[in-house]
Amino acid sequence: MTRVYNFAAGPSTLPLAALEEAAAKLVDYEGAGMSLIEMSHRGGRYDAVHNEALSLVREMLGVPDDYYILFLQGGASMQFGMVPLAFLRNGLSADYIVTGHWGKRAYADAAVVGDARVLWDGAGAGYTRIPSLRELSFRTGAAYVHICSNETIGGIQWKEFPDTLGVPLVVDMSSDVLSRPLPWERVSMLYAGTQKNLAPAGMALIIMKKDFAAGARRDLPAYLRYDLHAENNSLFNTPSTFVIWMTALTLRWVKSIGGLPEIERRRDERSRAVYGAIDESGGFYRSPVERGSRSSMNIVWKLADARLDGEFLDGAQREDLHGLKGHKSVGGFRASLYNAMPVEGALALADYMRRFADARG
Ligand SMILES: *Cc1c(COP(=O)(O)O)cnc(C)c1O
Repeated sequence: MTRVYNFAAGPSTLPLAALEEAAAKLVDYEGAGMSLIEMSHRGGRYDAVHNEALSLVREMLGVPDDYYILFLQGGASMQFGMVPLAFLRNGLSADYIVTGHWGKRAYADAAVVGDARVLWDGAGAGYTRIPSLRELSFRTGAAYVHICSNETIGGIQWKEFPDTLGVPLVVDMSSDVLSRPLPWERVSMLYAGTQKNLAPAGMALIIMKKDFAAGARRDLPAYLRYDLHAENNSLFNTPSTFVIWMTALTLRWVKSIGGLPEIERRRDERSRAVYGAIDESGGFYRSPVERGSRSSMNIVWKLADARLDGEFLDGAQREDLHGLKGHKSVGGFRASLYNAMPVEGALALADYMRRFADARG
């Protein structure tokens, strides 16, 4: 099989080692005579995989002991609603920093549930930058402040998490989780849909500080209660056993290559190559994003001459560079450079971009 370079934003490329191990064991799991995904989630074999996934998250991200790690269904979108349901009790309000499509979605769901306020909105500049700390004034009485660490569609990223002056910070890290170390002293909760940096779709990874979780409402339908999931080690109901297995396999791969330091080294090498091709094209390719806010995971650009868009995409496809079409809301192109994208994939894309610009520029 020729494995193409898949730059899709999510679901997205996974480590080949993880896919191959799952394929080899899918039908007969370690001699059990059945697949892991046919087994009870209450049995010993599944339990070992479940706990390995949880403990590798803790190990790879250096999650402190006073944080719960949960695997919940419904993806990141479920958390858009679950967070305000749990934390916006009567009389409390939360602040949202809206940096793009996903920040806006999170805010919209919170506004349905309770008193959600927009602390900052980047719409005026077309969501092309992250605000500076000077532009933000945190309210000490807020239940939490919500940010999206990496806007997958707009291609902008918080390089540093803000110090919210004691207000709990909740972060949607769907598209950059596991790509960077975290300043735990600043983070009360994060959540991430699994289908970008971790596993197939169908689940979210949630990491929340125990004392923050203690303030979550319990007078909610059972599945929406963080306390029940925490007490039951994410086995309150039937979990996404396949997705959790794949998460374990991805994390094993992360560990095998050297953990976060190597993940970061590859991340920087990939993004340097593609931004380099944009910056050195003499305006042939244009990034709409402010330099200091550039995402290392999702790189967006446009061709100065949009009439060449189709030809650019077709040529890329012929060189096995797939999934480069930009989101329909912004157009242009996007390369998602998640952890599992080999550095060679980014180098091949940059090389193609240079040759295309030379031929057509
Ligand atoms: C993909 C994405 C989501 C939505 O994730 P689902 O798992 O599909 O609900 C939310 N936020 C960000 C930043 C994303 O990239």
